[in-house]
Amino acid sequence: MDNELICLGIESTAHTFGVGIVDENGNILADERMMYRPEKGKGILPRDASEHHTKNASVVIKSALQHAKINPSNVKLIAFSQGPGLPPCLHVGASIARYLSTSNNIDLVAVNHPVAHIEIGRLTAGSKDPVVLYLSGGNTQVISFAEGRYRIFGETQDIAVGNVFDTVARELDLKSPGGPEIEKRAVNGKYIELPYSVKGMDLSFSGIVTEAIKNIKAGARPEDVCYSLQETCFAMLTEVTERALAHTGKNEVLLVGGVAANKRLQDMLRIMCEERGAKLFVVDIKYSGDNGTMIAWAGMLAYKSGQKTSLEKSGIDQKWKTDEAEITWM
Ligand code: AMP
Ligand code: MG
Repeated sequence: MDNELICLGIESTAHTFGVGIVDENGNILADERMMYRPEKGKGILPRDASEHHTKNASVVIKSALQHAKINPSNVKLIAFSQGPGLPPCLHVGASIARYLSTSNNIDLVAVNHPVAHIEIGRLTAGSKDPVVLYLSGGNTQVISFAEGRYRIFGETQDIAVGNVFDTVARELDLKSPGGPEIEKRAVNGKYIELPYSVKGMDLSFSGIVTEAIKNIKAGARPEDVCYSLQETCFAMLTEVTERALAHTGKNEVLLVGGVAANKRLQDMLRIMCEERGAKLFVVDIKYSGDNGTMIAWAGMLAYKSGQKTSLEKSGIDQKWKTDEAEITWM
């Protein structure tokens, strides 16, 4: 254990404070997290979320070390989510990571959060060179690797698809996070027309939210709204993903991020892939939402391919874009 390279990763971009521990071979030794839940009917308040992270950080770290059955001295590398995200939340993770690195005299490596979602997807689903569909509470992107970067082929022009589900769920008085609640209620719904908006490779969702809320206020049945929301958003995402497969000539699709858990979305993508002779891979659902393990693993890949982060460069980067991160391990 003493010579083993073990990495502890910290996630704190938004609602989740997570700590994961991995070894060089991609074995996951621990994954602990605590999630800030906004008050009923409200969205995430960055200050409250960061306070939640500060309060719970030491418990989560301790419990990860216990689960991994290691001492703090066995950890040889600290990885942290440097961005993008909510600044007050990012600061908590970055400060703790700096402290752990300096006080234990071990290296530090900064990780791009979307890249970490992709890498935990490749690790757990076994995909090699996919078109990635990254769908979460804050992001909606179609991504693929080319010439040293994960390039963005298409993305939302306004809000993220997870946010669409959470916002409409709040309007229906469902509990948070809204995605799983919408999925449950969509089962027996009928179709109500919502604005389908794909522009080239980009997507727009804000009109769908407005129209869904209008329907709710006019007395539409919740199951019909939930069903139509899923059908419309997922058809748009499937269309853009199919075009990305055609452009890149790749034959794998990898679904990552919190929304990846949705079975209807998986089915629509699987059918599209089968029709094109491609294959759908889905991140292990245990790691689809934000977590520290994905940060630890992406940090491990970066470090083993020569990256490390000096204290001077360890400040948060709230707008760090997916295609600005250097991918030195592909
Ligand atoms: P993340 O930001 O990656 O942690 O993912 C959280 C987002 O995923 C939230 O917006 C959730 O509502 C959404 N989500 C989780 N499970 C599902 C699901 N089964 N269907 C749709 N959205 C989901
Ligand atoms: Mg995320």
